[in-house]
Amino acid sequence: MGKLVIISGPSGSGKSTVVRRLLEQSRLPVHLSVSATTRSPRPGERDGTDYHFLSRDEFLRRREAGEFLECKEVFGAGHWYGTLREEVEAGLARGHSVILEIDVQGGLAVLEQCPEAVTVFVDPGSRAELERRLRTRGTDAEEAIRRRLDTADEEFRIGETSYRHRVVNDTVDRAVQEICEILQAEVGETS
Ligand code: 5GP
Repeated sequence: MGKLVIISGPSGSGKSTVVRRLLEQSRLPVHLSVSATTRSPRPGERDGTDYHFLSRDEFLRRREAGEFLECKEVFGAGHWYGTLREEVEAGLARGHSVILEIDVQGGLAVLEQCPEAVTVFVDPGSRAELERRLRTRGTDAEEAIRRRLDTADEEFRIGETSYRHRVVNDTVDRAVQEICEILQAEVGETS
């Protein structure tokens, strides 16, 4: 039987890269839950692969219909993000572990409903390192970077108190290896 695996970390912690590599390297069957969002696609992002990109109306309609395991507006008056129940249930029904790459508040909301979920916090190492990564990635405006850094402090706190595993992403290879080992131990299968 697969497990629900929540992977969180501050924006810029490199968790997307880690998760992508995890999907390629894990010998356990894993399914990545594709979240829904109302934000616009960044260059190179594809609908249905990176996110289900929804209009605000469509998102709120689905929310009303109870289609989300959790959802919330991230970064103040910004955009909606949410985990679709269908994504999670389809993966688990096939016996796969389902990876949720979501923020810590989403993680806490899922944990309340599924306390047996495995939680992994991807830590960029330090706040200075986080700021450096956000700036070199060059996808966000200054104001967005500021907001992400402000949010990060709270995320570090929740990661420390509520997440079972903490993985420092100093090198991607090592972080992926460590998460593979955690999955191995938690899911209880051999690779
Ligand atoms: P980005 O816009 O950079 O892709 O993501 C912004 C933040 O939203 C990240 O911290 C990401 O983990 C979080 N996020 C992505 N999908 C979901 C989701 O389904 N639920 C929640 N609560 N957060 C999400």
